[in-house]
Amino acid sequence: MGKNELAALFSSNPDRYYKVSLFDKMGFARRKCGKCEKFFWTLDSKRQFCPDHENYSFIGKPPTNKHLDYVNAWKETDKFFRANDHTIVTRYPVVCRWREDLYFTIASIVDFQRVVGNQIVFELPANPLVVPQMCLRFNDIENVGLSGRHYTGFCMIGQTCNADAEGGYWKDRCIDLDYGMLTKGLGIKPEEITFVEDVWMGAGAFGYSLEYFVRGLELGNAVFTEFEGNENDYRVMPNKIIDMGAGLERFSWITMGTPTSYDCCFGPVVDKLRDITGTDSSNDLLAKYFEAVSSKLDRTTSVRDLRSLIAKEIKIDEEKLARLVAPHEAIYTVADHVRTLLFAISDGALPSNVGGGYNLRVILRRALSILERLGWKNVRVEDIADMHIDYLKQMYPELEEHRQDVRTILQLEAGRYASSRERMNSVATSLKTSKKGELSVDDLIRLYESDGITPDFLVEQGVIPSVPQTFYTKLAELHTSLVAGQAAKPIRGLEGLPPTKLLYYEDETMREFHAKVLKVIEGKYVVLDQTAFYPRGGGQEPDTGEIGDAKVVEVTKQADIVIHKIEGRITEGQNVHATVNARRRDLITKHHTATHVLNSASRNTLGSWVWQNSAFKEESYGRLDITHHSALAKEEVQKIEHAANRVIRENHPVVVKTYDRGDAEQEFTFRIYQGGVVPTSNVRIVNIKGWDIEACGGTHVKSTGEIGLVKIVKSERIQDGVVRLEFVAGEAAVNYMQKLDGQLATIAQALGSSREKVIESFNKSMEEAEAAKKKVRTMLRVVTGPIAKDISERAKKLASGIHMYSTYDEELEEDYHIAVGEKAIELDKHLIYLALVSKGEGIRVIVFAGEAARKKVKAGVIAKQVSAKLGGSGGGDDRFGQGGGRSKDRIKEALLLAEEAAK
Ligand SMILES: [Zn+2]
Ligand SMILES: [Zn+2]
Repeated sequence: MGKNELAALFSSNPDRYYKVSLFDKMGFARRKCGKCEKFFWTLDSKRQFCPDHENYSFIGKPPTNKHLDYVNAWKETDKFFRANDHTIVTRYPVVCRWREDLYFTIASIVDFQRVVGNQIVFELPANPLVVPQMCLRFNDIENVGLSGRHYTGFCMIGQTCNADAEGGYWKDRCIDLDYGMLTKGLGIKPEEITFVEDVWMGAGAFGYSLEYFVRGLELGNAVFTEFEGNENDYRVMPNKIIDMGAGLERFSWITMGTPTSYDCCFGPVVDKLRDITGTDSSNDLLAKYFEAVSSKLDRTTSVRDLRSLIAKEIKIDEEKLARLVAPHEAIYTVADHVRTLLFAISDGALPSNVGGGYNLRVILRRALSILERLGWKNVRVEDIADMHIDYLKQMYPELEEHRQDVRTILQLEAGRYASSRERMNSVATSLKTSKKGELSVDDLIRLYESDGITPDFLVEQGVIPSVPQTFYTKLAELHTSLVAGQAAKPIRGLEGLPPTKLLYYEDETMREFHAKVLKVIEGKYVVLDQTAFYPRGGGQEPDTGEIGDAKVVEVTKQADIVIHKIEGRITEGQNVHATVNARRRDLITKHHTATHVLNSASRNTLGSWVWQNSAFKEESYGRLDITHHSALAKEEVQKIEHAANRVIRENHPVVVKTYDRGDAEQEFTFRIYQGGVVPTSNVRIVNIKGWDIEACGGTHVKSTGEIGLVKIVKSERIQDGVVRLEFVAGEAAVNYMQKLDGQLATIAQALGSSREKVIESFNKSMEEAEAAKKKVRTMLRVVTGPIAKDISERAKKLASGIHMYSTYDEELEEDYHIAVGEKAIELDKHLIYLALVSKGEGIRVIVFAGEAARKKVKAGVIAKQVSAKLGGSGGGDDRFGQGGGRSKDRIKEALLLAEEAAK
């Protein structure tokens, strides 16, 4: 059943699905749209069409006397729903840490969706509730700032209710409330409101919905998710969900009636930016233009097409109009992009070239290049973020806490952009001469991906006339599809087995146990009734040991069942005695607990954007990948190490406790999901008292002192936005230090020195080596004169007048040939000097051409041809060329080729 069939099904029985008590009470009549045949409910007896076909008619004349800016529109909403027994829930992060399939929170309902097994379940922290949820979407970037109503970040007011739980209600009360919000809260007259019938389909669930419109503007959509299942087999859900989502930006706009919604939703930011940039907004045409765009833009036309239409309508030259509106569009766009970045960075995301960070860098670079294009050097993105915080903190006080972090990240990224400008300029210049006007959207995407060049920048440089409509959307699409989880190949034959009793959780110190063999599959996969063997998972390597006489080589968990892969013989039904390799487990446990300690040490040292990206722990070392914007300085690594070892010395207790997931999220925030999402309704919380709290299923020491010591052995920026720390803990750390100490002793001995004086001795040896090199260079200078003279005499005198000297050398280095060749063409202006020098696996090509010789043949050309012959590449200028190749069997041919070219 598609959406249309479903709509037909629901619309065929409006009394059952769509008619709510309000419609009867107030006398709303049901009509069929004369254009699209959708059904809608209205008090207006003249209305023939649904609001989809209607231009906005509230601009300049809002349908209410209440005029609410953004924050006040929220305060009004908050007040109304609070008075009607709703809990107002603090917004969730815009970075969606609780869903593996989403980078960002894209709708208010996402806050309450959790994946358990393969199913999405709803978990509401209160019932009913309202949340002012900031949502990020990057699928309409082109229209942002231009259309009057598109945003990359917007607030969705979520009114959510579990109909069948305590405090729950269903559609009658929902629509009563939404109607009340519009009429009492916003002061809109009842006859202005139209409800349109629609349907909603999700994975495994569906329902019907009522969208509500005022003067052509959709304000909200109340979805009633009543059924689960599919077209042929569905039933009423035991916990029916109301998901009403309304745009706060629209609530404000409908009451203000400003030409664009940006004018009322960014508080004082737009006016401040106009002041700073000296942008004049007094021209009447501006309001006229934006009003026309806002009200006429439908889903099919582009803003640009619309602009030429409007230009004709208001009788102004199209280019002149574009010039007039450009600075205003720029202000709207930049204000939007910076607001989105503010929320994302506050919630721990970093602009980068991968994952969700990609979209953040795209919009940041877009904002920066817009500022640059308009020559607004005195406008800084971090200052715009400050303006947003000053305004929004009334509604979102948590933004204040991250003011400094946001500034740090924005400044750093702006600096990176500026420093890449030089390279961008040279690329733009070469594009301008070679490919002007021939760049496709794909070309532009390649340019952005490889050189960070935004199309806005190319417009500014005059390489392309305008940014293609689809560029940003296409770019965002490329980076929104997520990698599907790579499931290990499942082992078959586990049906009917009970869940394994997990002794490694009941008693983490257990290293020996008795168990019954429930099943042996293919002679090597063993399932016991209970086990102390920790299976591979969460980046922790599995235990090894023995079951009976058999060796355990791998342990995995499939759903509730632990599977031991063995080498040896075990029979079903047998009672066995098993031993876990204690030393291995202890070391893994220490490395594992050390990742928790290091993760918080990194965040406290570097900044709040540090999250665990992934981790790996085995017997001999551990690895922690953290999100951070730059490679670490030596001092930073040392600081992290010091903080971690202090926590170890202070011997903090490590307490493990299982919580209801919702409770844990509320009590400890989403920080608990350092190791990723937990797909169960209970979470195991590992609390290193006073230091670190995470949800984790691994094995841990009882107190940090047991780790003994942690030493970071390596830090490396492994990808944009991710730094890897490799470390050793406990005994492994002591072994590591001893090994280093031993190496140092060996070096000292070789230098004839002691460990204490090894650096001094090393420096002395280096100086000696440098002095020897210098001597060789001096000698070379002395002898090049006579050698060059000899070469000139020995060179082949060709008919062309060129003196050709070529050689293949397996002994002397290229320094020698450069010195000699240079001198030789000075002495003999007709000389071409070609040397092929053996170097490792390959051949270096060096060519010099004297002043007279180069009139006939260029050094660079010979270098190119000869290198090509040798299977490589080369080039250069008239006087000097170089290159190389690897085909040593073609040396003779290469030399002949050069002579041929000089003939
Ligand atoms: Zn219609
Ligand atoms: Zn852990």
